[in-house]
Amino acid sequence: MGEPDRRTVRDLRRTNRAALLRRLYFEGPLSRQELGPVTGLSSGSISNVAAELLTEGVLEEAGSVESDGGRPRTLLRVAPHSAYLIGVDVGETGVRVELFDLTLTEVARSEQPLETGRHDVALVVQLVEKGLAALLTGTDLTARKLLGIGVGVPGIVEQRAHGGAVVHGQTVGWDAVPLEALLRASAGLPDGVPLHIGNGAKTLGQAEMWFGAGRGARDAVIALLGSGVGACVVTGGEPYGGATSSAGEWGHTVLTVGGRRCRCGARGCLEAYVGAGAVLERWREEGGEPPGTDQESALAGLLAAESAGGVQGRTAGGVLAATAEYLGAGIADLVNLFNPERIVLGGWAGLLLGPRLLPAVREATEAYALSYPAARTAVELGRLGPDAVTVGAATLPLRRFLDAGGSAPPGVAMSA
Ligand SMILES: [Zn+2]
Repeated sequence: MGEPDRRTVRDLRRTNRAALLRRLYFEGPLSRQELGPVTGLSSGSISNVAAELLTEGVLEEAGSVESDGGRPRTLLRVAPHSAYLIGVDVGETGVRVELFDLTLTEVARSEQPLETGRHDVALVVQLVEKGLAALLTGTDLTARKLLGIGVGVPGIVEQRAHGGAVVHGQTVGWDAVPLEALLRASAGLPDGVPLHIGNGAKTLGQAEMWFGAGRGARDAVIALLGSGVGACVVTGGEPYGGATSSAGEWGHTVLTVGGRRCRCGARGCLEAYVGAGAVLERWREEGGEPPGTDQESALAGLLAAESAGGVQGRTAGGVLAATAEYLGAGIADLVNLFNPERIVLGGWAGLLLGPRLLPAVREATEAYALSYPAARTAVELGRLGPDAVTVGAATLPLRRFLDAGGSAPPGVAMSA
């Protein structure tokens, strides 16, 4: 009958380690004395747990502060180089692989371009392999100190009991792609390193919640505009997944019955109006001539055309005004459905157009949403920048590490 008790003690120890590590991770450096009130742990527990984590190299001392009339108090923080994480962004225009230290500071990155609109699975797997090799070859990180690899993908991710993550990416032509099995079978994946696959919008949302514009909010929606349009719905501090983890497919909610054709095959989706490609298409239909060879320079051209004024400027202004209204109507749906305290607009196109569109988007949101919740919802821009999907992907192994109280996954050695 000893087993249940031992398990309880082990669980308690892990819970205590996780509580202390989380505080130090997000709010450190802190002294042992400051950790008491914020973790609810006794000073004895804090001493024990801190001593363990210092010995293991997960924590380090970070100087000291004077205390009122007493001895100086030693500050503790997470040791940045005690472990590393990798984030992979399988994006619309390329595959980016980034190596981070434990505090998610970038150590190195590798970018492999992907022909726009061509998400051939074998090619994507090859590019991930290539990116990993570029970062790991010649280092001693393989299975040592590397906590895991997180991969953010454009699609719904189904976690299967056998065979791992399968991706349903309707807009990029991925029909039940067994991405985890394919990546594991590829030679480039280091032995023993955990692999986590998640929806790119959801992982980016997690990153904005932890490190960006969502910090401190319990109920929020991170709304993302790129070629695709998606959202990460956070309720009670946790991302909401739904029955099959596809909740937040905001881009494919209907704005106009029988409206414009969407990449998903349906008609009238929000994405068919405010996705980067859709905005440019509407501009072309009005007689505009998007410059450059990629969507980013073309959208920047739309802003520049408006500033330049004249007939073309009025046309561009009209396209932007319509975009703000469509977007505001879509955000009003989020307000009415989820009653968030904050909506964060991000994604590369959202960040590019946001500074110009935000006042009009807020106005449209108020016009289309119920007034009581709308008046209590802040609509803000994301703070992490357009490249943050890799940071988001790296939060997948990071979350596991924090939940486990700083214990490395089996087979991964931690050393100071
Ligand atoms: Zn759609």
